[in-house]
Order: sequence, then structure tokens, then C-alpha cells
Amino acid sequence: MATLQDLLTDDAKTSRSSVIREILALVDADDVLSLAGGMPDPATFPIDDLTTAATNAIGTPSGEALQYGRTEGMTILRQVLSAGAAERRSRSCALDDVLVTTGSQQALDLIARAFVDPGDEVAIDDPGYLGAVQAIGSRKPRWLPIPVDPDGIDTDALESALRAGRQPKLVYTVTDFQNPTGAVLHPDRRRHLADLADRWGFVIVEDDPYGGIRFGEPEHPPVATWTDRALSLGTVSKTIAPGLRVGWVVAPPEIVTVLARLKQASDLHTSTLNQRIVADLLSRPGWMDRRRATLSSFYETRARTLREALARSVPTMSVSDPRGGLFLWGELPGADTRALLDRAADAGVAFVPGAAFSPTDRASSTLRLTYATLDPAELEEAARRLGSVV
Ligand code: PMP
Repeated sequence: MATLQDLLTDDAKTSRSSVIREILALVDADDVLSLAGGMPDPATFPIDDLTTAATNAIGTPSGEALQYGRTEGMTILRQVLSAGAAERRSRSCALDDVLVTTGSQQALDLIARAFVDPGDEVAIDDPGYLGAVQAIGSRKPRWLPIPVDPDGIDTDALESALRAGRQPKLVYTVTDFQNPTGAVLHPDRRRHLADLADRWGFVIVEDDPYGGIRFGEPEHPPVATWTDRALSLGTVSKTIAPGLRVGWVVAPPEIVTVLARLKQASDLHTSTLNQRIVADLLSRPGWMDRRRATLSSFYETRARTLREALARSVPTMSVSDPRGGLFLWGELPGADTRALLDRAADAGVAFVPGAAFSPTDRASSTLRLTYATLDPAELEEAARRLGSVV
């Protein structure tokens, strides 16, 4: 008789857990200082404000925050999100342009299901966000990796690929403080990317979970400022708390309708309680601006601490100088960082090897280190442990 394993679909049989999840499991198991997952420091969670917002939400006389809701999201939340998007894009954005999702990760899954058939070409940051490789990868695309430098995805390289006959249906990039390299997409490249989408007819997915954490870097307009072909993803995971699982996508209304249809089958709607909590906080005048300022200065100090500690303890490693976000990108010339990780874990420190971010699984001498989770003394110790194995 067939075992339960035998009964799984081909997709389920070939699905793989993300390397980062596996590293997080390893970190849980041992006394390992983790520079791996990009988990915000719980000390930054706005506990008091969340408590009042949750109490308000639960006490809503209509019971709205505890009831089933619309798949597209609660009006009160879509209103603040569309107003925010309108301001950033300097053009109008209606309620129907916004779909609330269960984290931006769900938006990626829905977009992949909406646009990618097996064999379709998908261009993606290289190195790029692992969760996007996973979500889009489950649709079995043909990857078109596009190099990322400190100014973000190389749009000239993308244009050359287009001219050479490549036909991506979708281009995925993280615009601000990219995961994993920390790159910020240059304003000229944002326009160029929008222009390429309009000329060659692909859809852009611009993902921006880290834009709220900026170390003096000015804000740049989103790619969607210049084209209707960009879908913009957002989330409160890094600015409020990831456990809320509240994200969103801003897209043309006819696309929102399709994504909502797909979402219906997966979770009916995002938690109304959490939507209501987030709507309450985002509607408080100046609340998010103050929050962004607090987080930015908190993480800027952490970033400096880790950079300086690495310069002392791992002098052979070149390290990026982050302009925001939660990650440092390092390189150890000649090293295979995947092999190094095993020895590092034995020495009590974890990071994510660069190969994990390659859509094509290329070996690499690079690594991603986060300063988000550990306190300054732990960051110093983690750098010392890393130095001992390098
Ligand atoms: N996009 C990027 C680039 C990310 O780094 C992450 C989180 N690590 C996500 C999306 C998913 O975030 P969320 O918690 O909103 O699902």
C-alpha cells in the first residue's frame, strides 16, 4: 500500500526548507550566537502601544476585529496604506489598489501563482532574497539572475539580457537596503527599470520591508512612481513586529482582484485583529515617523558595533557599510563560506553563507551577517568567535 509520503504531489515531494530556517533550527538547538536570521530585537517591539491598540481592537463594539473580514483587507487599514502609497508615489492611490496580505511573503506567493507558469522566465536580484527564490521557485520558473551592486539591481545588465532575447515575465528586486547585500536601488535605475518594463512588457515586483530603517540615506521614490507595471510590497514585520504577519501589495485594481481570489483559497483573509491593531497604530499622527527614527538610530549603533568588531576580529573579511536595513554583506576571499559555517557553528556563531542567496546555488566566498538580534556585547563576542574559525 502507498505510504502517506508516496501520496504527496510532485511539488510537495520536491519542496525544500529554506537554508535560513535550517540555520535557525541549529541556532535554537545550541548555545550559538546568531548573526543569521534577520529577526528584529524584541527590545524594539512597541509593547505599550501594541497593548492599547490590541485592547481597543478587541473592544470594538461591532466585534469587527474578531469577526471574519473581506479578503482584500479591512477598509480602515487599506485607507491608511493607500494614503501612504499615494504620498510616496506622488500620485493617487485608491483603496482598491491595496490588498492586505499575511506578511509580504504571502504577497510573493500570490504574485508567483498569478503570473508564473512553469518554464516562464523570472529575473531576480543575484544575490537575492531567499524567500522570493522559494516562493517563486515553487512555480518552477527559468531564472534570469541579474547582478546586484551597491546601487541595486544592474538595470543595464537586465537591458542587455532583454536585447539578447531573454523574455522575463517578472522582475523581482528589493529596492531599499536589499536582503542580503544592503544595496539601495539608485534613483536613475528606478526610472530605467520602470522604462524597461514599459518598453518590454514585464511586471516588476518591488519589495521594500527595510525602508523604515535608514541611516541618513534619503528616501527615493518607488519604481511605481513611473510605471503602472510595478507591484509594490510592504510589511510591518521590521517596523512594528513580524509576529503580526501584516503585509500588503499595492497594484492596479484588476490585479488586486486576481490576487484576492487566490488569497481566498489560502486563508480567506489576514487576521482582522492584527489588521485592526496595525491600522490603529498607523493612524496615530506621527507614530510611524517616530518609530522609524527610533529604530534607525537603534540599528545604526548596532551596525557600527558589528562592523568595528569584525574589523578587529576578522581583518581579512571585507564588509559592506550599510546605509540602512538589518544586514552586513561580507566577503572572505578564497573561502567557501558554506563549509566555514559548520566550523563556525561548532565555535558558537552562525551566519548565512552567500550561496544561500544564489538563485542557481552557486558556491560563494560571501556571507550575510545581521546586527538585528544580538546586543552589542554579544556582537563583539560573535565577531571574536568568527575570527577564531577564519
Ligand atoms: N521580503 C524580504 C526582502 C524580506 O527580507 C522578508 C523577511 N525576511 C520578507 C519579504 C517577508 O516579510 P514578511 O514578514 O512581511 O512576510
